[in-house]
Amino acid sequence: MADKFDVIVIGAGPGGYVAAIRAAQLGLKTACVEKWVGKEGNVVHGGTCLNVGCIPSKALLEASHKFVEAKHDFDELGIQAPDVSMDVTKMMSHKDKIVKNLTGGISGLFKANGVTSIEGAGKVASGKQVEVTGHDGKTTMYDADNIIIAAGSVPIEIPPTPLVEGMVVDSTGALEFQETPKRLGVIGAGIIGLELGSVWNRLGSEVTMLEAMDDFLPMVDASIAKETQKILKKQGLDIKLNARVTSSEVKGDEVVVKYTDANGEQETTFDKLIVCVGRRPYTKGVIADGVSIELDERGFIFVDDQCRTNLPGVYAVGDCVRGPMLAHKASEEGIMVADIIAGHKAEMNYDTIPNVVYTFPEVAWVGITEQEAKAKGIDVKVGAFPFAASGRAMANNATEGTAKVIADAETDRILGMHIVGQHAGEMIAQGVIAMEFGSSAEDLALTCYAHPTMSEAVHEAALAVDGHAIHMANRKKRK
Ligand code: FAD
Ligand code: NAD
Repeated sequence: MADKFDVIVIGAGPGGYVAAIRAAQLGLKTACVEKWVGKEGNVVHGGTCLNVGCIPSKALLEASHKFVEAKHDFDELGIQAPDVSMDVTKMMSHKDKIVKNLTGGISGLFKANGVTSIEGAGKVASGKQVEVTGHDGKTTMYDADNIIIAAGSVPIEIPPTPLVEGMVVDSTGALEFQETPKRLGVIGAGIIGLELGSVWNRLGSEVTMLEAMDDFLPMVDASIAKETQKILKKQGLDIKLNARVTSSEVKGDEVVVKYTDANGEQETTFDKLIVCVGRRPYTKGVIADGVSIELDERGFIFVDDQCRTNLPGVYAVGDCVRGPMLAHKASEEGIMVADIIAGHKAEMNYDTIPNVVYTFPEVAWVGITEQEAKAKGIDVKVGAFPFAASGRAMANNATEGTAKVIADAETDRILGMHIVGQHAGEMIAQGVIAMEFGSSAEDLALTCYAHPTMSEAVHEAALAVDGHAIHMANRKKRK
């Protein structure tokens, strides 16, 4: 008879491993089941985020950004570096080393916190049982008072662009190119497309992005999205909106792509093609036949606000449930569920989840856009401050971008913050904390910011909400 646990978590991505650690910290006997086999043939923890997502993509973004700076921007600062070149193989080894360290670190954290690690594919066999199939095919049944499904997501594949190893790839393949493709096609100008398109554009690829929608980054405030599009275009990303791919075909060492746009049918040829048109929940094999855990119409596991499924004692968190597919959202849900199982009161504020696109400059936002406010009939006032007027941005040689604060016209409560600029991903935490504490724009305006910092742009944007910005001419009259 296998062990009985208070909690069994299926999946050790940021949703699952965080839930398991929290549950163990709260005194619950906890196990976490993971099946992901890493490059070295052993089971690895960390899920999409650590293995093929957030972390490896940021390693490549940072390396490629430093390369561009050294090649094109250092000269202006007086630094002579005439022979800068990129060794792609070394960049990839650096990325792989980080992934190995971090995934290994999770195993260490499991040991330190007393989480039992179970290797194999977990399946909810009943409301209180998980069946695990090991890589040797052997199955073991475990009993659990509570089960947390954190099975994550996988890339969406579309019929016109079937994957062809090394040539037509998803985001995972795009993290493994061993040399810079001369002509790179990217299907989908969403977050992955912009991040991975940027990596290879910086290293010298001619990047063409084919995006089906008319709008660029529709979830970002329109003025910030427009500015971002302009900046990225200047960097060389050829973003074609309203472009619908109809087919792709590998011919020798080229990929021929057909698409339609406002001018009719088009054809173009690339050396590599990345398909990044979204991700779908991964629930294959996670729920045994006859176990009635409801899925929603898009295939996500159906949960309430506190991540309970319809089956008592069974919870689901992260990418396999509704809401944004973000590592920090998955982790916060994992913590909430562990707290609930341990008998604590816990809830999550889905209105204050930050988003960051790690292009250069970064794009970051939290809360609503001006357009959403209008659509919802909320009267808002807005303050914006350009980094071009920031002393620190000038010193950093990073003056592109704007910080924007959106506040309720009547109560002054901050409803949204949208930033495009260097370190926007760090700065957005101010908006998250302000909104979490129900702050007004005046609260931020009355706060003392360190000088010189990029964050002063947020301060000035908050001041500008009521026409009080100091370091630019105010458009609106002071009250
Ligand atoms: P996952 O990380 O997908 O983990 C699920 C785990 O469950 C996997 O390890 C899987 O093997 C395991 N599993 C599934 N089924 C079973 C089973 N039956 N038995 C045992 N184990 C199972 N998000 C951000 O917030 N910031 C970023 O910068 C960012 N960058 C990204 C870049 C890329 C290229 C990609 C692809 C994604 C990125 N994301 C980013 C999204 C982020 O990776 C996901 O939102 C996050 O990993 C979701 O966590 P999760 O725990 O729900 O699922
Ligand atoms: P996405 O939803 O961000 O973007 C997909 C894009 O593809 C959309 O703009 C969509 O209109 C377009 N598209 C869809 N079908 C198309 C078609 N047939 N032809 C052309 N364009 C098409 O999805 P993604 O970029 O694949 O990322 C997946 C998820 O991973 C996202 O939800 C995101 O939250 C997460 N992620 C987050 C980060 C981050 O936080 N920095 C980074 C990478 C990924």
